[in-house]
Amino acid sequence: MTREEINKVLEIDRTHIWHPYTSMTDPLPVFLVKSAGGVWIELMTGQKLIDGMSSWWAAVHGYNHPVLNKALKKQTESMSHVMFGGLTHQPAVELTKKLLSIVPESLTKIFYCDSGSVSVEVAMKMALQYAHSSGSITKKHFATIRSGYHGDTWNAMSVCDPETGMHHIFQGSLPVQYFVPQPKTRFHEEWKPEDIVPLRKLFEEKESEIAALILEPIVQGAGGMWFYHPQYLVEARILCDKYNILLIFDEIATGFGRTGKMFACEYAHVMPDILCIGKAITGGTISFAATLTTNKVAEMISSGEPGVFMHGPTYMGNPLACAVSIASIDLLLSTDWEYKVKNMELRMKEWLEPARNISSVEDVRVLGGIGVVQMKNVVDVGKVQGEFVQRNVWVRPFGKLVYIMPPYVIEENELKILCEAIVDVAGMVK
Ligand code: PMP
Repeated sequence: MTREEINKVLEIDRTHIWHPYTSMTDPLPVFLVKSAGGVWIELMTGQKLIDGMSSWWAAVHGYNHPVLNKALKKQTESMSHVMFGGLTHQPAVELTKKLLSIVPESLTKIFYCDSGSVSVEVAMKMALQYAHSSGSITKKHFATIRSGYHGDTWNAMSVCDPETGMHHIFQGSLPVQYFVPQPKTRFHEEWKPEDIVPLRKLFEEKESEIAALILEPIVQGAGGMWFYHPQYLVEARILCDKYNILLIFDEIATGFGRTGKMFACEYAHVMPDILCIGKAITGGTISFAATLTTNKVAEMISSGEPGVFMHGPTYMGNPLACAVSIASIDLLLSTDWEYKVKNMELRMKEWLEPARNISSVEDVRVLGGIGVVQMKNVVDVGKVQGEFVQRNVWVRPFGKLVYIMPPYVIEENELKILCEAIVDVAGMVK
């Protein structure tokens, strides 16, 4: 495409298409992508960028992977979709067997849905139906920790951080939930027992109102990219059991190896009552998610009114998504992903460390395949993004956070370029 043709396409985009979290009248610049392969995103201008984002945690194997493409194409030969009401298919059953072999063993019942946010809605609905069926009809609210992020749909928004989160302007319209402070003990620090006190107090006071505690285990993603101590989850599990409150883990971002464990909750050896997974389930190919629960929860839901679980999206259990998820999980299990993620962690620790000496930088932290440079002030996304593109890397900051979670297939030299670009750009930010 010529520069003129590119500009025409971008003009239509700019005039008519909404992008995530942007203004329609004064949008941030967007870059026209021609293709993506491995860790590279190629722009229509011919410029190639090393991807630091995995398209928001999803593309763990890199882009345009032949194995995933093949699975998708093969599935189109028999069917792309059939309704899941009254029908089932091999891809859904095969994926179920595969997931059951990797998730915490108490999770045996799976609800397939379209996106992460929907899987959170499903999880919350499960918890409410569980409370209803068990006769705890006053348990209508949820507890969560501050700085969390669980998606953009209505109930998911209600458990995002009400102030620092992206949804604070909807306060007043959203269901009211209970928030306790973010766990302060960092992942690698010695556990501070006072961290759990606010949750204990909340449960003591509001036990009869709370159906479930929902949180992102170990790594809080979009709400602050914060890594907290596994003991918090151990204590939370004990409290949930004591007060008959279900424990929901949102592993939509952390699942499938990103933190260095297949699921982040493995760091604490704690099993939730309900688990949400999504994003990397299809290796970044198409939107898909699942909500998993235990026999106990499923049986309780079935035992009460209306005797069924009240959810059933049109594209539930989509065969294309199931087929590509099977291929993606097989691909992950066939590689030494633990070594790769550990190596990313070690390298990012080394190569992001110089950012700590920059006066505008507040904190540098790394866990598994996630590297974070927290600035003292909110960054100008458009400006900073432009600086990254000039350095041939794709990094999308938000708020004070400049962070990367690259595809696991990234080579060391590519990761080094990414980290050096971050240190370089952080040095330019006031
Ligand atoms: N939960 C977490 C922890 C997430 O990171 C996200 C996505 N950023 C969601 C839920 C929502 O997922 P989706 O965007 O697929 O709806």
